[in-house]
Amino acid sequence: MGEFELISRFFQRPAQAAEGANPRVALGIGDDCALLNPAEGNQLAITTDLLVEGRHFLSTVPPDRLGHKSLAVNLSDLAAMGATPSAFTLSLALPRADERWCAEFSKGLFALADAAGCTLIGGDTTASPVITISITAFGEVPVGAAITRAGAHAGDDIYVSHPEGGGIGDARLALEVQRAQAHLVADAFDRVRLRMELPTPRNSLGVALRGIATAMIDVSDGLLGDLNHILERSHLGARVEADAIARSPALCTQPVAMQRLCTLAGGDDYELLFTAPPSTRAAVLSAAHASGVAVARIGRIETQPGTRLVDARGYAIDNIFRSFDHFGR
Ligand code: ADP
Ligand code: MG
Repeated sequence: MGEFELISRFFQRPAQAAEGANPRVALGIGDDCALLNPAEGNQLAITTDLLVEGRHFLSTVPPDRLGHKSLAVNLSDLAAMGATPSAFTLSLALPRADERWCAEFSKGLFALADAAGCTLIGGDTTASPVITISITAFGEVPVGAAITRAGAHAGDDIYVSHPEGGGIGDARLALEVQRAQAHLVADAFDRVRLRMELPTPRNSLGVALRGIATAMIDVSDGLLGDLNHILERSHLGARVEADAIARSPALCTQPVAMQRLCTLAGGDDYELLFTAPPSTRAAVLSAAHASGVAVARIGRIETQPGTRLVDARGYAIDNIFRSFDHFGR
């Protein structure tokens, strides 16, 4: 199977699926460029992510889950701006043209793409020693409505989303179990592994928070580190109550130190961390309810720089948590 056969068999779907169904796509796969028609009064939101085998995922991850996650991490970035997904490109570097791998990968990818109304409009394909996947996603947001990292105000509440009945930190807990640093019974491990391999981007919540959230980011490298991006861009500090962060039943079986590591510095959560003034508490809850996601209020923005971490009784917790940095130690 050559490059062009691989593209046409697994990634180029009938024009009906590519163009007909999505009014934003004027021209999809097959030409030198794709053409997009953003709606009048909208801005394009553009994000890209690179996933490298051995660095971002293990070669043992089922390819359909990898297809899902490759797109999910980009959709999560669009969610964090309050943008609606419209289209994406896919660049693939593969050691060989493996039919089973391509079939599974594209199945997982298109299941999420179709659910999100996000159309594959092009890409590039090449051979390489390790699997490398790069997706660029395009979304739309009305001019002036994007929610950046820079808009927090002193006195704003800090919130983080989580699944109903679940929490933050499960993806990291799954990783710690794989590294033999934590133990879970098989059922519980399967559940946290799903949170690591099949993250759910929070696009409807992101859009519902337009006009409510003052600053927003998605939690990909660890909650405190990602919060710090908001603080730095907004020139402010925060007080965070560690015990207010929702934890799944599986994470609650772990020692407190493991719970804190996973919730505060876990990474790979793909939940939305955002700020909003206390006057909008009811609006935040109804946005969450309408989106079918839960949100927890976990702290407050303050003028004093840095993050002060406290437990449920208000006692200070040492902030020793580092977020993930590819070129860090
Ligand atoms: P070019 O020579 O302009 O790079 P290619 O021959 O690489 O074009 O690709 C042919 C068409 O297939 C283009 O429209 C390109 O966007 C699309 N394409 C290539 N690889 C992929 C892929 N992995 N997924 C989706 N579309 C792809
Ligand atoms: Mg090419």
